[in-house]
Amino acid sequence: MNKILLLGANGQVGWELQRALAPLAKDLVICDRRRGDLSNLQGLAELVAQERPDVIVNAGAYTAVDKAESDIDGARRVNAEAVAVLARAAHELDAWLVHYSTDYVFDGSGASPFEEDAPTAPLGVYGQTKLEGEQAIRESGCQHLIFRTSWVYANRGSNFAKTMLRLAKERDELRVIADQIGSPTSAELIADITALALHCLANDADLSSNASGTYHLVASGETSWHRYAKFVIAEAMNLGNELRATPERIIPIATHEYPLPAKRPANSRLANRKLQDTFGVVLPPWEYHVRRMIQEQFDQRAV
Ligand code: NDP
Repeated sequence: MNKILLLGANGQVGWELQRALAPLAKDLVICDRRRGDLSNLQGLAELVAQERPDVIVNAGAYTAVDKAESDIDGARRVNAEAVAVLARAAHELDAWLVHYSTDYVFDGSGASPFEEDAPTAPLGVYGQTKLEGEQAIRESGCQHLIFRTSWVYANRGSNFAKTMLRLAKERDELRVIADQIGSPTSAELIADITALALHCLANDADLSSNASGTYHLVASGETSWHRYAKFVIAEAMNLGNELRATPERIIPIATHEYPLPAKRPANSRLANRKLQDTFGVVLPPWEYHVRRMIQEQFDQRAV
């Protein structure tokens, strides 16, 4: 591969992609908001035309789920219109477009994992605009990998697990939502699987002509935010951290007890078999990478 253009390189997934994509191409062009502003559609088209990459990887998105409810145009520009620009450019260049989407394209009904072709019905602006981005890619006719993921966390930046650790130090008791079910997925895993998939495509012509499509890229297994919080706190205590809120003091609450502007799906389970079968990879249980992240947090503080 000659050139990969990475957009949104400063986010949780983008940062890990900087590491995972580096061994794949002679030239990895890394763009954050300063060089690749997704809200500047003209500038974005010019950037791709100038760079002429073999692969575009877009890790940028308007991810402020609650803010999107009152900033529909802003969310749509980044999550849908910019993605349409990238998809058209990829089609013209005969380049692959790798893009990330979300469990929020579904309505969260039922209790079984959503397959890739299950009917979509977003509950809010973020999910709706992410779905429009997906549709623009499919309509453009470009070769693409759309990876839907969920509950993303990383060692770098702020996330639910780190917030729970901080709050457990400050308070005796935490109240955490117990009726939303999903799979915490590490940015590290998302980046590694992206790189493996691109490596497979570059080296397998049959796969490359058949693999364009949508895949669920989530860690295996499932949990609630409440059980996730208990797991994080128990692991941190096993590593010797002193916390005020012990796992028994993490109190389950219902979604309606913690009102937010955007409605969240109750069922965020995504079936991940298609990705594993197509690319011959394994998506480990969610606990695997969460445990690593907690250990890394602990190690960093010890330095
Ligand atoms: P982050 O919020 O960590 O990163 C998003 C990145 O997009 C940020 O670096 C941000 O830049 C960048 N961005 C936002 N607006 C613009 C813009 N106008 N121009 C250029 N860059 C912009 O998100 P994640 O890494 O967690 O998400 C990666 C993908 O996964 C996204 O497509 C997201 O929709 C999807 N996803 C995420 C989930 C989650 O729980 N986080 C769940 C499901 C799917 P800056 O740093 O400058 O603000």
